Amino acid sequence: MQKLVRVKLSVEAYVRERYHRQMRPPSQCPNCGRFHRLWAHGYYERDSTDLLGKVIAFWVRRFRCTYCKITVSCLPRFAQPYCLVSHATLTAFLKGRHRRRDVQARWDLLRRYLGRFAQWQPELMKIIGHLFGRASPKEDATAFWRRAVATCGSTSKLTVLLVKEYGTTCFTTYRCHQTSFAQ
Ligand SMILES: [Zn+2]
Repeated sequence: MQKLVRVKLSVEAYVRERYHRQMRPPSQCPNCGRFHRLWAHGYYERDSTDLLGKVIAFWVRRFRCTYCKITVSCLPRFAQPYCLVSHATLTAFLKGRHRRRDVQARWDLLRRYLGRFAQWQPELMKIIGHLFGRASPKEDATAFWRRAVATCGSTSKLTVLLVKEYGTTCFTTYRCHQTSFAQ
């Protein structure tokens, strides 16, 4: 499973401080709900983007539950689940800060995210209902996404809400956000 972990660091600082080594196991297993059962289980590497929009690699800490045997990766909240561009850049893009260097550098990918969100939005609405109030019929997917981000404060906070409360994200529902004893 994947857990989004609050880290008060940018990706640059996380890498510089080798923060993955300090990452503590979540006290509660997100799968079986038992406490103090997660033990260190290595790392994996993935990419996000920095303040200039450049790719930056970082380590994700993994833990394993001794009870249900599931592996939990602790993804720092600056990174999106399975998407390259950092939350900071995506938030800036959705808030209309289009002249920022990171937004400019990742423009094409950010536009593709808009397309993915628009495709997913009908399903997302079935899952979350009127969480952000009733949308006007004229509100398109981009306007809705902007409103949801403005309500939550950032794309990171929106994603945390969607994952925690609904087991989904802005783009699709991933298996790693579902609980399952079968794994
Ligand atoms: Zn467990």
